[in-house]
Amino acid sequence: MAIRVSQAVDRQKMKSLVEAKVTEIGIGAMQAMEKIKLGISTCLLGQNVRYDGGHKLDRFLTDTLGQYVEYVPVCPEVECGLPVPRESMHLEGDPESPRLVTSRTKQDMTERMVSWAERRVVELERDGLCGFIFKSDSPSSGMERVKVYDSKGMPAKKGVGMFARIFMDHFPLLPVEEEGRLHDPKLRENFIERIFVLKRWREALAKKENRGTVVDFHTMHKLLILSHSPKHYQAMGKLVARAKEMPLKDLFRQYQTILMEALQLKTTPKKNANVLMHMMGYFKEQLSSDEKQELLEVMDHYRQEVIPLIVPMTLIHHYVRKYDQPYLKQQVYLNPHPLELQLRNHV
Ligand code: SF4
Repeated sequence: MAIRVSQAVDRQKMKSLVEAKVTEIGIGAMQAMEKIKLGISTCLLGQNVRYDGGHKLDRFLTDTLGQYVEYVPVCPEVECGLPVPRESMHLEGDPESPRLVTSRTKQDMTERMVSWAERRVVELERDGLCGFIFKSDSPSSGMERVKVYDSKGMPAKKGVGMFARIFMDHFPLLPVEEEGRLHDPKLRENFIERIFVLKRWREALAKKENRGTVVDFHTMHKLLILSHSPKHYQAMGKLVARAKEMPLKDLFRQYQTILMEALQLKTTPKKNANVLMHMMGYFKEQLSSDEKQELLEVMDHYRQEVIPLIVPMTLIHHYVRKYDQPYLKQQVYLNPHPLELQLRNHV
């Protein structure tokens, strides 16, 4: 198949190619992977658990992301024994260590919430969560910038919900986000990519806990890691090279820590363009001058943010197949899950 991308990208041809690629990748990847387990604030699923008897249904979470994940709902206020409806609450005092207090009658719910949350996070270990989606602004569930009132009754958006803080302290490497932030395409892409990578990592370890698993996993994820952080990419390469010298558990723990830290760093058009150039290097000799010119033009359009990442990725994917490049063929960066793939329409 010949692809012609003129100076202004031939969007129609590219659209068909992208659609064909989504279909082709989608079937295999869907069959290969079980649903990902994610914790979620219960009210986001549309359950009437809020203090006023209402909910905060988020359709993207239920209808779109919900196709790929299995949610484990957690409502801290209801699960710690409070009724629906109930008096509203807020945080007050020191933003680093606030109290949870009812707004009108000033009952202090801190001890009740903390002792329940400390038990609940231990229970959640058994669920094998790959992440958590919190309800923003809640004194119990908010992940950041929650209002904390000072002694004069003045609020400052500096707090973390009481359950969310205990959860994040207990699971420091788990991907976490809030529903509002997931409406931002870049934050959404980053969160979803992280939960898929963590799931793949756990599945790989569940199949075989040996050094070869780490080497294979790393080989497949190299370019993905590079797209987030060249610094972590180098550190992980060194770690994998020393794999034989380390106790297995230390290797797994260190690898997972650096992996999740790397993926927390956002990709940018500059970082992605660097990876695209790196990939082009693998078949540069085989490309005709016309093909090379075409690819460079598309990459340049992407770097200038005129077109989304999916466009150069699709063209590269085509050349990888055409010139049968085995190393690139196995890269997760080129073969993401369908949901991850669709996200590249927006970054
Ligand atoms: S924000 Fe948290 S505590 Fe409040 S209703 Fe939702 S899940 Fe329950």
